[in-house]
Amino acid sequence: MSVRLHNTLTGRKEPFEPAEPGHARIYVCGPTVYDYAHLGHARCYVVYDVLVRHLRANGMKVTYVRNITDVDDKILKRASETGTEPTALAARFAEAYAEDMRRLRNLDPDVEPKVSKHLDDIVALVQRLIDGGHAYVSDGDVYFSVESFPEYGKLSHRHLSQMKLGASERLDEAQTARKRHPADFALWKKSEEGGWGWDSPWGRGRPGWHIECSTMSMKHLGDTLDLHGGGLDLVFPHHENEIAQSEAATGKPFARCWMHNGFVEVDKEKMSKSLGNFFTARDLFDRVEPEAIRYFMMTVHYRAPLNLDWTLDEAGNVTGFPQFEEAERRVAYLYKTKQRLAGLPAERIVESETSVPPELGGFSEMLREALDDDLNMPVALARLSDFLKAVNELCDNAMRKKGKAARTAVELAEAGFHALKAELGLGAQDAEGVLLRIRDRRARARGLDNEAIEKRIAARARARQAKDFAEADRIRDALSARGVELLDGPEGTDWDILD
Ligand SMILES: [Zn+2]
Repeated sequence: MSVRLHNTLTGRKEPFEPAEPGHARIYVCGPTVYDYAHLGHARCYVVYDVLVRHLRANGMKVTYVRNITDVDDKILKRASETGTEPTALAARFAEAYAEDMRRLRNLDPDVEPKVSKHLDDIVALVQRLIDGGHAYVSDGDVYFSVESFPEYGKLSHRHLSQMKLGASERLDEAQTARKRHPADFALWKKSEEGGWGWDSPWGRGRPGWHIECSTMSMKHLGDTLDLHGGGLDLVFPHHENEIAQSEAATGKPFARCWMHNGFVEVDKEKMSKSLGNFFTARDLFDRVEPEAIRYFMMTVHYRAPLNLDWTLDEAGNVTGFPQFEEAERRVAYLYKTKQRLAGLPAERIVESETSVPPELGGFSEMLREALDDDLNMPVALARLSDFLKAVNELCDNAMRKKGKAARTAVELAEAGFHALKAELGLGAQDAEGVLLRIRDRRARARGLDNEAIEKRIAARARARQAKDFAEADRIRDALSARGVELLDGPEGTDWDILD
C-alpha cells in the first residue's frame, strides 16, 4: 500500500511509513469534556476515524489512542458556574461524548486515556523536564522554558522572536511575572487554597493541558508516535508545546507525521455561541440522520474549511440545513440501493460472461486509491456515486421481464459495499431501520402524522376491496398532494415521503 499524507511538520505530502512496518501508532487529541460535542468535534473525529479505517482496511495494524481531557481549567470554570463537582461534570460529558461519537459511526479508540488516571505519570514527566534544565518552578507553578528548546516553533513555522508579543498579550500579568520568557508555558499550575488539585513535589496543583497529551501519548505509544493528529487550531500552541516538552525530555523525535483537519464554519462564520451559529452534534441528530452528518463531513477535503449553510425564517429561526438534507438523500439512496441488491431473487442471478462496468467492478480499488492520496474523501464519494448508479442499473436489468444479473457483477457489488463500510464507515447499518427513521423524520418535518397516514392507507384498501376505485384514487391523490407517496406491493401498501 502507499498512503500519502500531508505532514504539517514538513509542509509536504509524504508516504506514511510507520517506524515498525505494518503497525501504525496514532494519537489524536481528544475532547475537553465540559460540554457536548459540537460540529467541529464531529468533523475532526470522523476524519481520523476514516484514516484508521483506511489503514486497517489495507492490512495495517493500528493502535489508535484518543484521550479524554477531564482535568482542565474550562472544566473547573463550568463546574463552578453550575455548582457541580468538576470530576462528576467531566464524567457526565465524557459519557455523552462517547455516545455521540458512536452515533456518528466512529469506532472506539483502542485506548482512551483520561488525565485523571495519569497524574503520577504527568508529575514524573514534569520532574524529568526540571531535572534536565527545561523547566523551572516559580511560586508553586512549573513552567517550560522555551529558550531551552532551540527548535521551538518548528511545527507552526514561526520563530520565538515573533511570539513574544502575541503570547504575553494573552496571559494575565501575575502569571507573566512568574515566567522567565513570555512564551514559557505552564506544565503545572498551583491550585487555590482548598481548590481542585493533586499533591505534587511543588505543592498542590493541576497539570497544564499540553503536558497531559505528551504524557498520555508517550505512555501508551512510546517516545515516537507515527502520527499525531488534531484540529488545525491545535497547531499552535498546543502541538508546538507537546513537541517541545516531549523532545526535550526524550531527545527523540516526538511524531513522525502531523496531521491537521480544517475548521467548521456555519454560514461562513466561525461557530460561536454569541453568533447563534453554534450547534452540538445532539442538536443536529434531531434534525438529520447521524450518518448523513458523517457523509457531509466527507464532501470537503479534510484540510479545507467546511462551511455549513442554513436557511432561516423571517424571525431568524433555523428552518433547515440544505447540505445535510442533500447528504441525507444520498445516504437514503445508498441504503435503498443496498436493499435492492440484497433483494435480487436468486433465480435471476446467473453465471454469465458479460463484462462488468468499471464503475462497479473497480469501485473497491478506486476507493482505496482516493484515500491513499491524502485521504481524498470527496473523490471517494464521487466514485461512490458512480458505483451506486451502476448497481441500480444492474438491478434494473435483472428485474426487467426475463432479466438476469451476472453472478460476478453481484459479487463485485457486494464487495463494493463491504469496502465502503470498511473504508468510510458508510452503509453499515440495517437499511430498513435507517430508511424508516429518515422517512418518519421527513414526515414530522412536514407536520404529518404516521398514524393518520396509516389510517388513510387502510381506508384506501377497504375502498379498493369494495371496488370503489374513485374513492381509492381520491385518497391516493390527497396523500400525494401532501408529499406522501404510496407504494403498492405484494404484501400491501407501503409509503414514503417524496423529495
Ligand atoms: Zn492534545
